[in-house]
Amino acid sequence: MDLTNLTLKEASEGLKAKKFSSVDLTKAYFERIKKVDKNLHAYVLETEEQALKDAEKADEILAKGEGSALTGIPCALKDNFNTKGVRTTCCSKILENFVPPYDATVVKKLKEAGVVVLGKTNTDEFTCGGSTEHSCFGPTSNPWDVFRVAGGSSGGSACAVASNMAVFALGTDTGGSIREPASFCGCVGLKVTYGRVSRSGVTSFASSWDTIGPLAKTVEDAAMVLQAIAGHDDLDSTTPNIPVPDYLKNIDKGVKGLKIGIPKEYFEEGIEVGVREVVMNAVKEYEKMGAEIVEISLPMTKYAVAAYYIAAPAELSANLARFDGIRYGRKPQNEGEDLLDYYFAARGEGFGDEIKRRVMIGTYVLSAGYYDAYYKKAQKVRTLIIKDFEDAFKKVDVMITPVAPIPAWKIGEKMNDPLAMYLADAFTIPINAAGVPAMSVPAGFVKGDKGDLPVGIQIIGPQFSEELLFQVGNAYEKNSKVKAQNVKPQFKA
Ligand code: GLN
Repeated sequence: MDLTNLTLKEASEGLKAKKFSSVDLTKAYFERIKKVDKNLHAYVLETEEQALKDAEKADEILAKGEGSALTGIPCALKDNFNTKGVRTTCCSKILENFVPPYDATVVKKLKEAGVVVLGKTNTDEFTCGGSTEHSCFGPTSNPWDVFRVAGGSSGGSACAVASNMAVFALGTDTGGSIREPASFCGCVGLKVTYGRVSRSGVTSFASSWDTIGPLAKTVEDAAMVLQAIAGHDDLDSTTPNIPVPDYLKNIDKGVKGLKIGIPKEYFEEGIEVGVREVVMNAVKEYEKMGAEIVEISLPMTKYAVAAYYIAAPAELSANLARFDGIRYGRKPQNEGEDLLDYYFAARGEGFGDEIKRRVMIGTYVLSAGYYDAYYKKAQKVRTLIIKDFEDAFKKVDVMITPVAPIPAWKIGEKMNDPLAMYLADAFTIPINAAGVPAMSVPAGFVKGDKGDLPVGIQIIGPQFSEELLFQVGNAYEKNSKVKAQNVKPQFKA
């Protein structure tokens, strides 16, 4: 039996039944990583020694019949999650030697649940991007075609899960960074309600948009991970004290009688024919399962990308101001004559091109004279987008849309055309603007030039409706023929 094929649920049951140990499981994963990651580059750091120690500890707990559903489960963390004593770079040169003195709240929670951390995964620098090509370590490849991107910014996490190099992984999603790579690589990716999961200890990109969530092999697995990481945290004041429900309780309830909205704006401009077909086929399956399909409208959709690419860089420029090479960030090679020289050198050497572009945009839109014309206007648009979603959820229970208008593109193809890259976020950004949860679930394939490329559907719900999203996603996964984790991606180097 190849242990790396197991879902989280299966691995957890196997551990409890003593069919194999956490050490066996962890070793199998490192074997797999050694075999395939040279072609894929999902990991930027492997922590094998510590992982094996943690696996031994987990086995002791399991031997006593104790532990949680996650005890002994090998997982991966995106490299913007602070891990105590373990290098955390945000895939930026400016943090290349940073070793955090503490764990992020979610990392602490996962460790308390008994997980085994295999390593840190690749991301676009400070999570700014949709392809991992903006990583100082170079891009992650798509497991279905190594000449294509894995998506991003949580491309390393998505690739690791889809190619059996981790049972599950954590990512962050500010404008699509969990859902888009999940769709491109063929795994499940959950963007939670804003505030559902604490972000303390995770480096901020745009604080009023950032969320944390799981990438997993199945919907059920994603629910199991969220169970362990959701909830209020005193260290993150945006996490309300709303009880965390039992996410598995209603997962098999099906979709009979549910109203599923199809927002027409997500099927019009710029969407590739094959992608639309996959999504519409999934919608038909939902109809067969007893859901009522309702066409609806989210008229503000077309303004979301523009509003985001003003508001998010504004927040980024403020958040990155702390990286000055003194308190945060590495010392520059040429320190210069005075403090200003020093700042220029530290930031000039430390940040990559995409970060520089966004910091300049952000600083510009926040500056006196431009604030009203850009930043304030973007905020007003955001309010209208929120209203779009409030109105829609008066008519339907959930919505289904494509995750991205196109499948994974070729590495390098969009590097000189930032606008083209930004437009790939058209269907994910509005969800972050509204702060609602959404999940990417594998739904089919389109033909690439070297074989099939995965495509996901996006299931969107009202705030704090993660339980319902799992129910809806699981119904599809259990009924459809497409189970990405059962189809082995090809590795053509
Ligand atoms: N692709 C989007 C961007 O480049 C989203 C990034 C994210 O969610 N972190 O900003």
